[in-house]
Amino acid sequence: SAATTDHDASQRLQLPPFDYKPRPYKGPLADDVFARRKKFLGPSLFHFYQKPLNIVEGKMQYLFDENGRRYLDAFAGIVTISCGHCHPEVLNAIMEQSKLLQHTTTIYLHHAIADFAETLASKMPGNLKVVYFVNSGSEANDLAMLMARLYTGNIGMISLRNAYHGGSSSTIGLTAMNTWKYPIPEGEVHHVMNPDPYRGIFGSDASSYARELQDHIDYGTSGKVAGFIAETIQGAGGAVELAPGYLKLAYDIIHKAGGVCIADEVQCGFARTGSHFWGFESQGVIPDIVTMAKGIGNGLPLGAVVTTPEIASVMAQKLQFNTFGGNPVCSAGGLAVLRVLDKEKRQSHCAEVGSHLIQRLRSLMHVHDIIGDVRGRGLMVGIEFVTDRKEKTPAKAETTTMHERFREIGILVGKGGMHGNVFRIKPPLCFTKNDADFVVDALDYAISKL
Ligand code: PLP
Repeated sequence: SAATTDHDASQRLQLPPFDYKPRPYKGPLADDVFARRKKFLGPSLFHFYQKPLNIVEGKMQYLFDENGRRYLDAFAGIVTISCGHCHPEVLNAIMEQSKLLQHTTTIYLHHAIADFAETLASKMPGNLKVVYFVNSGSEANDLAMLMARLYTGNIGMISLRNAYHGGSSSTIGLTAMNTWKYPIPEGEVHHVMNPDPYRGIFGSDASSYARELQDHIDYGTSGKVAGFIAETIQGAGGAVELAPGYLKLAYDIIHKAGGVCIADEVQCGFARTGSHFWGFESQGVIPDIVTMAKGIGNGLPLGAVVTTPEIASVMAQKLQFNTFGGNPVCSAGGLAVLRVLDKEKRQSHCAEVGSHLIQRLRSLMHVHDIIGDVRGRGLMVGIEFVTDRKEKTPAKAETTTMHERFREIGILVGKGGMHGNVFRIKPPLCFTKNDADFVVDALDYAISKL
């Protein structure tokens, strides 16, 4: 029973010590909140848990429920908390700006927007120097798609199967997993073979996937495309890192077909992958357009598109406007995020803690056959569970059971991938080696209890 599991787990597994006391909570309790959520909020696929937790406070890599129970947040509000929950410097920047001015729109000047845009542009390679602020990842990809179509004069967009690029009516077209798709017109979007080293039919052979991309353009389009969009490590798709060398080949093919290349850095940007600040850097490419959200704001509703002056110039044909994009509070917070990531050396920290985590998880593969694959980079890690290693049969039910058991133990991980059989470990970037060890020990325990 759950009670026995709780007891067993608490005997064997203790969360690493953390010196913070949550405030006593006197607000509405879980049953009440859940009942009202069901009544007043639209139905959501995000019933990760039978009964969701009532999370009332957060501090760095930890969350607290209504009873003051502490949880290790290994999913960071869907890969969004970069610096840490309520990081003092980010919080202070938001509060100080909020006291002075919360909103004006870009029809007036405000230094916070310019400060943030300048600092963000300084993080970009090549000629990626023009910034547009929006409020989410979907909006960023929507704008990028518009830019690609206007700039090239072509319509066709290409994305990779297993990608998630948003849930707006236009970006659902770019998203390529049936779990997220409604039967709506998607415009001209082509989904090409995913260079997935674990499940892809060509393994890690980037050139075979690139040939399929070329074939698709030759046989499935007019020969001209507007743009190609890809994450370097697919997030919702289950932390699938594209086969090494693929993006370089794909970008060449797309440019020859008259298109522009868009890197979706919504999940893998902002130091998370450890080896680089941006995910695309690990493939040695410079995109024409980069989209970002999530980690950029440490929880603030904020997104951005960064591109070259030449591509940006097409947007000047008409009025281009976004009411909230880059409002002073979000800009002040976003600027603080960039400062904190630098000051706290989060990129090298992600590299170190992430490789420790991946190496320990890989060693568990010798003990537990249910672990089919351990992959990722830095603190963007996927663990894929299978009932049969040769057939790679998704261990769906087992993944759900272990996910519940993790919550009982006190760890919140993401569950995802096309088949719902992947644990996604993508914590706030202040996650420590002790936290990583705790996750591995908990996994060892949870598997042994299956
Ligand atoms: N792109 C990627 C890679 C994402 O993971 C997401 C969201 O999960 C999006 C775009 C859409 O972002 P949002 O939910 O902020 O609209």
